[in-house]
Amino acid sequence: MAAELGLSETDIANPFFAQVFGGNGVLAGMQPWASNYGGHQFGTWAGQLGDGRAISLGEVLTEQGKRWELQLKGAGTTPYSRGADGRAVLRSSIREFLCSEAMHHLGVPTTRALSLVVTGETVERDMFYDGHPQDEPGAIVCRVAPSFIRFGHFELPASRGDMELLRQLVNFTIRRDFPHLHGSDENRYAEWFAEICARTATMIAHWMRVGFVHGVMNTDNMSILGLTIDYGPYGWVDDFDPDWTPNTTDAMSRRYRFGQQPNVAWWNLSRLAAAIAPLFDDVAPLQAGLDRYVAEYTAQTRRDIAAKFGFSQCRDDDVTRMETLQQLMQQAEVDMTLFFRALSRIDPHAPQLESLRHAFYDDAKRDAAEADFLRWLDDYAARVREDAWSPEQRLQCMHAANPCYVLRNYLAQEAIDCATEGDYKGIHTLLDVLRHPYDEQPGREQFAQKRPEWAKHRAGCSMLSCSS
Ligand code: AMP
Ligand code: MG
Ligand code: MG
Repeated sequence: MAAELGLSETDIANPFFAQVFGGNGVLAGMQPWASNYGGHQFGTWAGQLGDGRAISLGEVLTEQGKRWELQLKGAGTTPYSRGADGRAVLRSSIREFLCSEAMHHLGVPTTRALSLVVTGETVERDMFYDGHPQDEPGAIVCRVAPSFIRFGHFELPASRGDMELLRQLVNFTIRRDFPHLHGSDENRYAEWFAEICARTATMIAHWMRVGFVHGVMNTDNMSILGLTIDYGPYGWVDDFDPDWTPNTTDAMSRRYRFGQQPNVAWWNLSRLAAAIAPLFDDVAPLQAGLDRYVAEYTAQTRRDIAAKFGFSQCRDDDVTRMETLQQLMQQAEVDMTLFFRALSRIDPHAPQLESLRHAFYDDAKRDAAEADFLRWLDDYAARVREDAWSPEQRLQCMHAANPCYVLRNYLAQEAIDCATEGDYKGIHTLLDVLRHPYDEQPGREQFAQKRPEWAKHRAGCSMLSCSS
């Protein structure tokens, strides 16, 4: 990210870098700002929220003409802090830093991370909401994106009936971030909404492909550019389970569970549609945008099914094949990442469970499901034999769609535990591994294992709170 912004190693080593990106100095020309927005949280309108602990330093225009906004998270209070301290703890800052970079290298649209600066100060947080707050080390991430505008930015003026501000913000957003859209106002707005819908569909399809669960898909955490934003109590699916949510706050309703993400994104888009509806004479274009979401999501999912299976195209029976497999994986507790990665090793002329055994969490469940899996593998092998692609093409395609390394929660937590003791090596190692998630990296097999048993019930390794 530094290289993209034109920052050299020398620039980064300059103590002034840590001053600026630790929130204690500005470069000439920087005029930091925060913004307010609203949001639907867990399905209900939450009123005004805003950048309570995020402050933008400015924009960088690269030599290639790309625009990047630099935003500090955790640098202290802003006009929208609402009584809270505006700080962030090291634990959640490491999680945001590592995961946003991991997602980028997985090919998932996301905000990026430039830097992670420890403040040397402590922050008081009640991680378990048990009335016993603790001092934790503070840190600041500088995150980077073309724009940090969220659905909630439009919902807030709409909720106040401030149509002039709403229109101004829409025009600004289109001018800055969707400059390819022209035409009369209403046409432009329709195309803009449809594009947001399409980008959101692409993002969600990627999440489902790699097993990412955002955990808090409130409308204030939805980027207008279809970027993954606000890494909080997110998680990665270990054993395939569409009902799993990493967010302790969501454990009851499970609104933001893995399998629900495509529906929630549609609902969030419908909230955005409602907010901008006053700019339209007719709601048909908004309905068309929502339909575009469904069409894009369906198309992308079909491409992903073909890619994960290593087929030259997705046939209707492949969709069924994937559904059947997912049901089996859920029943038998199978690790999603390990299974799909190892599926490329199946011999289409003599399919066996052997090369997939390491992906099962429970021997008894595996034995009980063995016959079903063998039947599924026979069918899969027959489909592979029918497919147009050569074994090399198939392997290449599967290895590009099924990562070897993802940021399993316990891996992040191990790096956090060391960092809390002042040892940052784990962060560097993980970052390095996650920069090449599709390449098998000899000597780094320990980062491509299923979740160890101890991690299943440990705080930070399975469920997480929003406290950050
Ligand atoms: P994010 O959307 O990534 O900022 O995460 C939302 C979380 O940020 C909330 O659950 C709070 O824990 C925390 N938060 C929001 N506003 C503030 C603030 N002004 N100061 C400190 N923490 C905040
Ligand atoms: Mg947020
Ligand atoms: Mg289960």
